Amino acid sequence: MYNTKAYAAASATSPLAAIAIARRDPTAHDVQIDILFCGICHSDVHAVRNEWSDFMSTTYPIVPGHEIVGRVTAVGEAVTKYQSGDLVGVGCMVDADGTCPQCQAGLEQFCRSVIFTYNSPDQHQTAPVTYGGYANSVVVDERFVLRVPSNLELAGVAPLLCAGITTYSPIRHHGVKPGQKVGIVGLGGLGHMGVKFAHALGAHTVVFTTSPHKTEDALRLGADEVVVSCNANEMQKHAGSFDFILDTVSAKHDINAYLNLLRLDGNITLVGAPEKPMEIAAFSLLMGRRSLSGSLIGGIPETQEMLDFCGEHNITADVEVIPIQKVNEAYDRLLKSDVKYRFVIDLATLKAA
Ligand code: NAP
Ligand code: ZN
Repeated sequence: MYNTKAYAAASATSPLAAIAIARRDPTAHDVQIDILFCGICHSDVHAVRNEWSDFMSTTYPIVPGHEIVGRVTAVGEAVTKYQSGDLVGVGCMVDADGTCPQCQAGLEQFCRSVIFTYNSPDQHQTAPVTYGGYANSVVVDERFVLRVPSNLELAGVAPLLCAGITTYSPIRHHGVKPGQKVGIVGLGGLGHMGVKFAHALGAHTVVFTTSPHKTEDALRLGADEVVVSCNANEMQKHAGSFDFILDTVSAKHDINAYLNLLRLDGNITLVGAPEKPMEIAAFSLLMGRRSLSGSLIGGIPETQEMLDFCGEHNITADVEVIPIQKVNEAYDRLLKSDVKYRFVIDLATLKAA
């Protein structure tokens, strides 16, 4: 075991602060990574504040962070895919049983024994729970380490490991293609990646936002149209016209307003995970045989496919790089929908601290 610097919250109401955490020495299949950048996902905020306690309660201290890019510093003797010096990524998962039907299908996120990057039981018992990427170093089984395309700017790659795959996976699953009309609800970290992917796949892409000042950015990011969602007239113009809508909103909102925009057999997929349940009017689904579904990140093979797609299409997240000392301020800004469009922590600022 060795110690590394990290940032953790000691309770649901504490700010994040510096801490030393233990990491295991790399075992045979492990890759040790010097973390360069880590994105700030809204899930980090939900978890730190224990907002998902009905589903998975938070163990403190919590070290969040599951949008990790870094450089390999050591590998175990059985590692075949990586060597020291490689640029790599780690997303939301660090282990799974590898044998269940979901794992065999490359859908490790749905494995009943999935180990998330933070706040999951630590199988190696280095700590009570896994600790995430707001840290200088991490050790991960090579099966959960991803190759990073060499042509992309690294800070903008970090958010692909969660915001990227979480939007890419449902957009692919629902067969988004040219000629389709696709809606993206919420222009934050996930939403802005959804816009980039839907646009790259040739769909007519419409952004729904509660923030009128994001209109110009939405168009620059690849949207064909922008609708300010509190404008009922604007919403009505799109009634019954969408093939697919991806809802990335982090707080309670009216889903029925979006269900009514779907055409026959249209689908809304929720990736946003608000703290409180939301109401669905039966008729919003009955009319037009519409469906509502959910999606959780994406499996490891698809995450690699998404990274390679981003390499080919030159896609990265639009980021605001911050020193780790500004992480609490960034959380407050996220809660005000004030992010362009992902905060990414430069971990060199933790090393220097
Ligand atoms: P984010 O950057 O904070 O973006 C969320 C956006 O939702 C905001 O920018 C805002 O966009 C909109 N919004 C916020 N509050 C709203 C409200 N009260 N009513 C309507 N719109 C509102 O968050 P994120 O990192 O993209 O994450 C979004 C959600 O996805 C979170 O709940 C997160 O936990 C979840 N998530 C799920 C998965 C998964 O696997 N399913 C993975 C990662 C994250 P506008 O300003 O444009 O309205
Ligand atoms: Zn995330």
